[in-house]
Amino acid sequence: MGSVGAKEVPVLLSPEGLRIDGRKLDELRPIKIQVGTLHNADGSAFVEWGANKVMAAVYGPREVHPRHLQQNNKAVIQCKYNMAAFAVDERKRPGLDRRSQEISKVIGEAFESVVFAEEYPRTSIDIYIEVLQANAGTRCAGLVAASMALADAGIPMVDLLPAVAVGKVAGKIALDLKKEEDNFGEADLPMALVPQSGRLVLLQMEGHMTEEELAQSLDLGVQGCRAIYEKMKEALRERYSTGPVGGSS
Ligand code: ADP
Repeated sequence: MGSVGAKEVPVLLSPEGLRIDGRKLDELRPIKIQVGTLHNADGSAFVEWGANKVMAAVYGPREVHPRHLQQNNKAVIQCKYNMAAFAVDERKRPGLDRRSQEISKVIGEAFESVVFAEEYPRTSIDIYIEVLQANAGTRCAGLVAASMALADAGIPMVDLLPAVAVGKVAGKIALDLKKEEDNFGEADLPMALVPQSGRLVLLQMEGHMTEEELAQSLDLGVQGCRAIYEKMKEALRERYSTGPVGGSS
């Protein structure tokens, strides 16, 4: 352990090139996806990704609230991302903050690129994302969960939307950062990919890296998204071969 001021900085990369949890630089955390977890929603999914636990529910197409958001030529996609006050071990103020507003906005916009909204004019497609336990990469876990919930609700889409964050950790580009890597690393770069077209529909970056490292990050992220895409398709197949989680009611 090194130290900066009073804060202990963990060793992020071992001399063998392994990360704080033993992963290789291009390795994802384990992901478990369950589709159809909530009976009241039109579509739902629960994603456990590393230590993240994220629930997504989709309602719609349904009447638009508030009414003035209604669009005559397409459905409006409204996304609400929320991180529960108990989702992190540090003290977090419950409720709406700027971070959740920003994340809700970028996730909603990402889905505008894949949902066939023009098929449902004057309606709303409402996406709710609740982070129950957070360990970095929650917007990506939220995108994956919401994607599955939209598919579960039968909303027509160009494709599912896998997402992952890449970053720079101890000078190296690493896939799927966990909390310590996000906190003490040099950069964090979440992205979401439309696998069929190879288009990125969400890309953000905090921190700093060189142009070359950015290109390397994009390659690694796209590769990560494609691996997650396979798991998403597998979860959908499982859902429709075994039925909803916990039976229907
Ligand atoms: P993401 O979760 O998409 O990586 P951020 O980079 O904003 O988004 O957050 C990284 C991580 O930091 C979160 O997953 C969570 O573990 C933690 N975190 C975020 N906001 C707070 C907060 N208000 N209080 C405590 N921890 C937080």
